[in-house]
Amino acid sequence: METHITTKGSRVIRILSGRSNSYIVKSGLVNLLVDTGDKSSYNKLIKGLTSLNCFTLDYIVLTHSHFDHCANTALLVQRYGCKVILSKIESPMVSEGITPIPKGTLSVTKILSALGRKFESSFASYTPFTPDIEVEDCYDLSIHGVNIKIIHTPGHSAGSLSILVDKEIALVGDAMFGVFPGSILPPFADDTKQLFKSWQKLLDSGCTSFLPGHGKRIERKLLNSQIKKQSYVKN
Ligand SMILES: [Zn+2]
Repeated sequence: METHITTKGSRVIRILSGRSNSYIVKSGLVNLLVDTGDKSSYNKLIKGLTSLNCFTLDYIVLTHSHFDHCANTALLVQRYGCKVILSKIESPMVSEGITPIPKGTLSVTKILSALGRKFESSFASYTPFTPDIEVEDCYDLSIHGVNIKIIHTPGHSAGSLSILVDKEIALVGDAMFGVFPGSILPPFADDTKQLFKSWQKLLDSGCTSFLPGHGKRIERKLLNSQIKKQSYVKN
């Protein structure tokens, strides 16, 4: 499994890939899962956790509540008894078990988004759950010597969060997209202005690598050039 290690020795392992990414942040006996994938990935997730000797799970941090990032949360809480951390803004949505499909940022995804909204109750719903910790602007989750900070990075969705590990690696959910070469713009976002502000916030965090919810790792250099491109477009 693809593993990223900070200079302080924290390990971030990509445990699910393909449709969407899930990561385990491991330090000593503490296991923290970031995102839980869509319904179809439950068995793969359990297999991955077992192969990493993760027989306990302390926290699930959800970058946001779209179905492809949170659908296995209720089952995992039942199995591991772990605590769930989510944005306060998206808490009412997960208690209903449905989060609206975001707007498209490209002509083709604008059409897809409009279509998706018509049928979202059939494919975008998931088993409801209740978060234990609701994050507003920032939440410090430093445990056992690992420096973990959770920050609000809205834009893709109103309550999108990013997880900063040792001020070096940021797990950014869908605030960035790692699928198209040379671009980090997610194909869907509710508020692109807020999204670009969140990119700047992530750059200002000092992190050097950004792990997205879809696709490959994004380096600081690419983030920087994408921010410059946006301000060029605005001027
Ligand atoms: Zn999403």
